[in-house]
Amino acid sequence: MRRTGLLLLGIILVALCTAGCQKRERAQVPSGKLKVVATLFPLYDFARNVAGDRAEVTLLLPPGMEAHSFEPKPADIVRISKADLFLYTNRAMEPWAEELVKGVDAKNLVVVDTSRGARLLKARDEDEHGHGGEKGGVAEGNHHDEGGIDPHIWLDFVNARTMVDTIAAAFAAQDPANRDAYLANAAAYKAKLAALDDRYRAGLATCAKRVFLHGGHFAFGYLAQRYGLRYESALAVSADAEPTPRKLAGLVRQMKAEGLRVVYTEELIDPRTTETIARETGATILTLHGAHNVSRDDLAKGATFLDFMDRNLENLRKGLQCR
Ligand SMILES: [Zn+2]
Repeated sequence: MRRTGLLLLGIILVALCTAGCQKRERAQVPSGKLKVVATLFPLYDFARNVAGDRAEVTLLLPPGMEAHSFEPKPADIVRISKADLFLYTNRAMEPWAEELVKGVDAKNLVVVDTSRGARLLKARDEDEHGHGGEKGGVAEGNHHDEGGIDPHIWLDFVNARTMVDTIAAAFAAQDPANRDAYLANAAAYKAKLAALDDRYRAGLATCAKRVFLHGGHFAFGYLAQRYGLRYESALAVSADAEPTPRKLAGLVRQMKAEGLRVVYTEELIDPRTTETIARETGATILTLHGAHNVSRDDLAKGATFLDFMDRNLENLRKGLQCR
């Protein structure tokens, strides 16, 4: 009985110690860099900016991979277990994250849901499109299973700033010796995100059109809502599914009725749906990059979240016929 009690106490002490002892240990070894694994590109880029050269940040998604259908492999789990910080977007984006972390044997690992404190929108489902699309598609469950929120929180730049704060706080807690540097880096990067928000606000203020159509999945709901735009996509949730013929016909009709001359495609997916809409309407195809992930090329070239968003703004201004 007493031995069981002691054993329990021991387990509790070890559990309690995990966070606190880790910090003390790290503060004594300032040369040991914080190891951070981030699931998606925005988190990776935000974390890189917060880290400067004081931490080692890696991207979990292999470059070029479609983010919603990603499932971690055993090697990924090992990588996460060796990290100090694991950053994921939210339960709707990475429904596997919470389960995975429970199974990871790593006492120093701190797990951060970067949607904490962010403004969340409800997921768009097929019915809201008014076409009751078939529920096919491999990635179907990903947006829907977990509380029905739209996972693309990073495409609202106010949310992006909140995410940077959350990431910086986690860095500071895990590596208090570098706290001031992390917070200063975060403040500098948040100023860039605020300037981006200003460019969007100004750039989208005087446009002939207030609606844009997208041949991909419903990724830009946050962005549209932030800048008072209407937005339709061929697919609700599954980046790798196909829209119903009825949905496609509806989009073609809407393009013509609204006098839109641009239809958008997205990164890392088959552009066939967008091409069909373009063929039927004579519209030009431009890309809106959702920044979930990047190609190997872009990663090698040092592409940034801000670059993608500025290119998106340029393309949006063409499609919305802004002055
Ligand atoms: Zn998406």
